[in-house]
Amino acid sequence: DSVFAHLVRAPEDPILGVTVAYNKDPSPIKLNLGVGAYRTEEGKPLVLDVVRRVERQLLNDMSRNKEYIPIVGLADFNKLSAKLIFGADSPAIQENRVTTVQGLSGTGSLRVGGEFLAKHYHQRIIYLPTPTWGNHTKVFNLAGLTVKTYRYYAPATRGLDFQGLLEDLGSAPSGSVVLLHACAHNPTGVDPTLEQWEQIRHLIRSKSLLPFFDSAYQGFASGSLDADAQPVRLFVAEGGELLVAQSYAKNMGLYGERVGALSIVSKSADVSSRVESQLKLVIRPMYSSPPIHGASIVAAILKDRDLYNDWTIELKAMADRIINMRQQLFDALRARGTPGDWSHIIKQIGMFTFTGLNSEQVSILTKEYHIYLTSDGRISMAGLSSKTVPHLADAIHAVVT
Ligand code: PMP
Repeated sequence: DSVFAHLVRAPEDPILGVTVAYNKDPSPIKLNLGVGAYRTEEGKPLVLDVVRRVERQLLNDMSRNKEYIPIVGLADFNKLSAKLIFGADSPAIQENRVTTVQGLSGTGSLRVGGEFLAKHYHQRIIYLPTPTWGNHTKVFNLAGLTVKTYRYYAPATRGLDFQGLLEDLGSAPSGSVVLLHACAHNPTGVDPTLEQWEQIRHLIRSKSLLPFFDSAYQGFASGSLDADAQPVRLFVAEGGELLVAQSYAKNMGLYGERVGALSIVSKSADVSSRVESQLKLVIRPMYSSPPIHGASIVAAILKDRDLYNDWTIELKAMADRIINMRQQLFDALRARGTPGDWSHIIKQIGMFTFTGLNSEQVSILTKEYHIYLTSDGRISMAGLSSKTVPHLADAIHAVVT
């Protein structure tokens, strides 16, 4: 008998499981709105043109080899990633108070940050918004932190529960880590306004809480890299400490290349260099050193003014297509006279809309209309196209009336 005979079958990942179910459905009208990845108007994955061009250059450059890169990753990549999120003129960068290490996309960067905090930070409690990206809880639990939650989403308004957020963070034990979605909150698409961010910042600093930003969608939310980084920059401007995990999955379409970064802003260059030395001790036994290819692509694009410019144009086109899909879905529901206020579809931002449909309605969408989405009613706007909007609008209309 197998030494593993006692194993019970683990459940499918709630998000990735949606695609597994979708793939099994033979219906020609099936629609996958579960995927957290950009699709073109034709429903195809997109490799950015600027990425293709850089990859060709890399391939032809015979001076390149495949030696291991340092534990902390490519130096250029790290420097440019910090500049991208904090801004070219960031005082923290100028004062050498930023430590950046290359990570395995957003997830790996969150995990390294979590393990670093569990090992070296005095308060091992992290507060996550309710709801949040499903993987957050597991990532931080396994990193060795105690996970608690703060109120974030108000189902009644399909907007922010700002009062609840302030109350919950206001009563968090001093020093607690607070996970904040830098922009395009997943799964709700609901972000605080800049005025609200300013109040959140004030509360966090006055209670000596430690902000940990998850920046998985910079540029993807509004189409502007600077606008989407504004909340993070507010917290850096006043000189305080924080962590940021960046991902290039969405904004450069580098999903499977697993390229991201973890930055820790501290109070002095001296502390910063000790932080880096300890980050190396977290990374080395986990995966030794990060992969070279994706980070080389990113560094090449961020380094060259023309490539960078081309990237921002392609990025804006992706963001605009998503914003356009929101408008089309909203208009289609209006045109059908679907009961309810659907304005949240155009107010929310980023890849996802939190429709407000309950799990029973979702299950009817899937069974009767072959539309696949997570049971919390989250749909990926990037999975929609002008051709499929009517089918989705008909189905939503049917399940709510
Ligand atoms: N954080 C959030 C909020 C996300 O939505 C995602 C991707 N779905 C990630 C982190 C991590 O993604 P990746 O590891 O692919 O960069």
